[in-house]
Amino acid sequence: MNTNFLNIVKRIVAEKGEDVLSNPKLVSAMLADLARDIPKPAKYAFLRSLENDCAQKLKNAGRANSADAVEKLARQLNRDEGLDAALCTEVLRLLAAVLFGETKTAKNVYCKNCGKELPKEWLACPYCGTQTAGHGTVSRPVYKEEKPRPEPVPIPVSQNADDNTDMDEAEASREKAVGCGIFIIMMIIIVIAAIASSG
Ligand SMILES: [Zn+2]
Repeated sequence: MNTNFLNIVKRIVAEKGEDVLSNPKLVSAMLADLARDIPKPAKYAFLRSLENDCAQKLKNAGRANSADAVEKLARQLNRDEGLDAALCTEVLRLLAAVLFGETKTAKNVYCKNCGKELPKEWLACPYCGTQTAGHGTVSRPVYKEEKPRPEPVPIPVSQNADDNTDMDEAEASREKAVGCGIFIIMMIIIVIAAIASSG
């Protein structure tokens, strides 16, 4: 569920009272001001649900039946208003959450890979990136099989690396040797060139 949208609607209801939900025009005007960042289709679907008196219908159904009422009303909205079915469900869940508070009956969803709890809507685990199966149908944590820790492997100590200064010295002497080699090669080239030009 879009929690931003939910919070905006909650704010409107807190400000104007629950009856505002049977006044789509007022809600529309307030959304235009408060919900600029909310996707238009969501706002539109939400307003259509209000126009269809869904707030009252949900209240009539009661908190205990709200999940069933959401499904039923979503099908009606989808059929009568030609709105996207998933969007209808989303806005009606939002409406139910505003009316009844967020229901804790929804199953907790856990990543099937790392076992962390996830919001149901998430398509992938934010911790390990594993895609949630069918929007997360894992109903209890599945932890990675505990593997015995591997025995620590002793790191072989190289003979000339007793400490860092030795290594630095070895490095420096190698560089010196390379420098000498280049110098000797250049001298040979110069000598050969001199002999060639004199001969
Ligand atoms: Zn994970």
